[in-house]
Amino acid sequence: MAAPGELILMGPPGSGKGTQAKLLASRPGWLHLSTGDLFRENLRNGTPLGRLAEQHMSKGEYVPDDVTVEMVRERMSQVAPAVHVIFDGFPRTVPQAEALDVLLAEAGRRVTRVILIDVKRDELIARLAKRAEGRSDDSPEVARKRFDVYQEQTRPVLEHYERKGLVCRIEGIGTIDDVQDRIRAATP
Ligand code: AMP
Repeated sequence: MAAPGELILMGPPGSGKGTQAKLLASRPGWLHLSTGDLFRENLRNGTPLGRLAEQHMSKGEYVPDDVTVEMVRERMSQVAPAVHVIFDGFPRTVPQAEALDVLLAEAGRRVTRVILIDVKRDELIARLAKRAEGRSDDSPEVARKRFDVYQEQTRPVLEHYERKGLVCRIEGIGTIDDVQDRIRAATP
């Protein structure tokens, strides 16, 4: 098995990706890096980056690639060499994936696994609808739209890693522990 390196966790909205990433990073020697969390932290602290990110986040748009990559580069510069990183919500575009490859290589690091939490479209829509309990933004129509947007934007990123033979799909159905066990079994 390949030596462990960096890990990317991908999955559609409602797949439990954030929960799984946090659990996975609770092991010693792992760090959870969520770009969404970093943007929100900057926003809370009132930094210029936070204000810029907010302009995009509030509209449901992506923050520009250069800004996002710079933030990840800065965060990565603080990570001890022995610590492995679990990326959550990054990379979301092909330019981000390419920039990540370069910045990791510069640090003597590399992605060794991309785990895709697979949940069928109908199951996700049912979960979101259940979670919403009548909330309009999780209506079946909006849930379907979110899933389709995710599919459209994520496919090219997935293909980037598929070409490198790094993608492992795991079944996202079952309890949190079931899914966590599958992720751990798929992690070098
Ligand atoms: P998340 O918590 O991952 O759902 O991210 C919340 C919001 O932060 C997203 O809707 C985007 O506006 C922004 N964001 C998070 N990660 C990225 C990224 N990798 N690229 C661009 N924007 C991002």
